[in-house]
Amino acid sequence: MGAPADRTGAPQHLNFIAGQWRAAEGGAQFENRNPADLSDLIGHFPDSGAADVAAAVAGVAEAQPAWAAASPEARADMLYRAAEIIAARTPGIAAELTREEGKTLAEATNETSRIAANFRFYAGEALRLKGETYPAPGGQMVLSLRQPVGTVAVITPWNFPLSMAARKIAPALAAGNAVVFKPSEVSPLMGQRLVEVLLEAGLPQGLIALVHGKGPTVGRAITAAEGIDALTFTGSYAVGAQIQAALGTDTRCQLEMGGKNATLVLEDADIAKAAGIILKGAFGLSGQACTGTSRVLVARPLHDALLGRLAAAAEAVVIGPGDRAGVTMGPLATAAQLEKVGRYLDIARDEGAEIVTGGLPDQGELPEGHWIRPTVIAGVKRGSLLLKDEIFAPVVALCPFDTLEEALEIADDTEYGLALSVVSDHLPSVLKIAEATRHGIVKVNAPTTGVALNAPFGGVKHSSNQSAKEQGGANVMEFYSSLKTVYLGA
Ligand code: NAD
Repeated sequence: MGAPADRTGAPQHLNFIAGQWRAAEGGAQFENRNPADLSDLIGHFPDSGAADVAAAVAGVAEAQPAWAAASPEARADMLYRAAEIIAARTPGIAAELTREEGKTLAEATNETSRIAANFRFYAGEALRLKGETYPAPGGQMVLSLRQPVGTVAVITPWNFPLSMAARKIAPALAAGNAVVFKPSEVSPLMGQRLVEVLLEAGLPQGLIALVHGKGPTVGRAITAAEGIDALTFTGSYAVGAQIQAALGTDTRCQLEMGGKNATLVLEDADIAKAAGIILKGAFGLSGQACTGTSRVLVARPLHDALLGRLAAAAEAVVIGPGDRAGVTMGPLATAAQLEKVGRYLDIARDEGAEIVTGGLPDQGELPEGHWIRPTVIAGVKRGSLLLKDEIFAPVVALCPFDTLEEALEIADDTEYGLALSVVSDHLPSVLKIAEATRHGIVKVNAPTTGVALNAPFGGVKHSSNQSAKEQGGANVMEFYSSLKTVYLGA
């Protein structure tokens, strides 16, 4: 939909509620700027509130029964069409993603292609949904019917604004649900584009609502709204915990939250290979992935050599606007992210750790934006917050270990438990770590980042709640549907 522009030409985007594009009740708006160039105003978006959420929930509830009754083929066809539209428009959508969120064009292209794959995958799941039959006494037949849950609220973060949304919305729709979607206020344009594609692909008009706005207002209003049957959230632990506390027992809740991911480099590892793996995991996507490598635990004999390699590799990263030729790392997405990094660099200095390379770039090097250079910190002591807290930036802390047991202890000494990677060809050690660690994903000779869309995804402790173990792959259909047991008498 062509949005009307303000006096500077910046578009004024709208919510999509009850099958219509409309401003927030009261007309409030917020603006969105390019994190690589703050003078670049992307657009204005509705700053919605509880009234908009109520209208959105009521609107989708009306449309859901017809969608639930539609044939699985019809639901699958719509998702396949959405995948085709995305695939055809990948360059344009990827360019907008880079402009809005900051990741490089290559990373944005990858994410955009990935959502087309997500839509295709869940189109197939629409056809595979099934119940079972059970033997029962007295000549009865017992059936389980798999049914939609009803209305699903989808609340997403900014770091993968397309793929986090697609991997929730696609299975929710495949299972016959309606969706109320609140994208992050940092990346609203990507939420908008996703909804536009779905409507163009033939999704019944009222079945999805897009409600833009801030977390503490519209996000909170969603958690308090009547009529939400399931809520799926990806974001920080702090917000996830608030959502869990706010929801009653009647609302299914899937929380996919932060990580403090580590790469363990064992004594037999090849240093160059390890450095390459860490480089990708720590500095790809400007370190802003939930599975991003934030700690490197390295066998003491390899420590100095690995540190040298990693620092050199970090210095070779070219930072700049993600659409500029030769740039290999974009900015952080928000000013708050940059402030957070500053706090952790202060902690490093206060604790006597060494910032080997990184920190803020020289002023005037780049347009005004949220810039940080890939940062490597050494000499980090056990127990430091640098080894425990999610920083969500291209900042990696190195810590040597002497035994496998010690490496595991440090790796698990955090509230999070998402992704762990091990660089080693020593199978018994690798298996021991994989079995023992309290992380939901273990990768061997690969970066902590990058997951298969058809495999289960999720963490433990503060990284995921129980239902989030069903995120990713076909398992997720369990969350978006419920089983009803039917007894047929003889
Ligand atoms: P965030 O928690 O600040 O915000 C996430 C979403 O929640 C946004 O849409 C926000 O508006 C909304 N929100 C904020 N306050 C709310 C409230 N009180 N009630 C309801 N909704 C509210 O997270 P972020 O900064 O957008 O994203 C970064 C975080 O996301 C990191 O912690 C990262 O690890 C995590 N993440 C996790 C995964 C995963 O799969 N585990 C993937 C991507 C990102």
